[in-house]
Amino acid sequence: MQSKDKIFAEPGQKALLDLIALGKVDKLIVDIVAGYIQSVAGIPTEVRPQKPVPDFAYLSARKQYDATKILPRLLEDTGNAYFKLALINKDLCIPIMTHVYGESQLGGRAAVVSLSRLLHADPQVTFQRIAKICLHEVGHLLGLEHCREIGCLMRFSKQLDQLDELFSGFCSACEYEILRRVAAINQNML
Ligand SMILES: [Zn+2]
Ligand SMILES: [Zn+2]
Repeated sequence: MQSKDKIFAEPGQKALLDLIALGKVDKLIVDIVAGYIQSVAGIPTEVRPQKPVPDFAYLSARKQYDATKILPRLLEDTGNAYFKLALINKDLCIPIMTHVYGESQLGGRAAVVSLSRLLHADPQVTFQRIAKICLHEVGHLLGLEHCREIGCLMRFSKQLDQLDELFSGFCSACEYEILRRVAAINQNML
């Protein structure tokens, strides 16, 4: 049983999620995200070394990066943890949408979050937005779909003002499911 107030996976404790910056990302942001994932979702998280910007996913006609091309590559060579979450300072899209804040494989193992549209003059707001999107994508990785509960992090946010209105946590039903599923994965890995 791991304590929820530990910021990072303890030495010797197996991380369940690798957090990877693709290209340059402020280290403070990476550490804040790791801390949130650990404390809110109870997932031991390890910050992995930065990797290059994924040029293979660049769409020159759209001047954006295709998130669906980045996800499978994340599973190849970025540490040993079950889940992979990448942070990138470039604008992301998927073929059917003009842009996405984050993209994940539902019930899968890889997710990517773009910081480029989340910036705000107040760094606290920026940090909150990034942490919220990351936790939302982690929820999808655990198999959770969108939630209609007001304020819940699994609610779909089309725009930033909707994102800013969310709490920094999940509703009780989503939180229960997240902790239950994390416990089940930990159990299977023993
Ligand atoms: Zn979503
Ligand atoms: Zn919920």
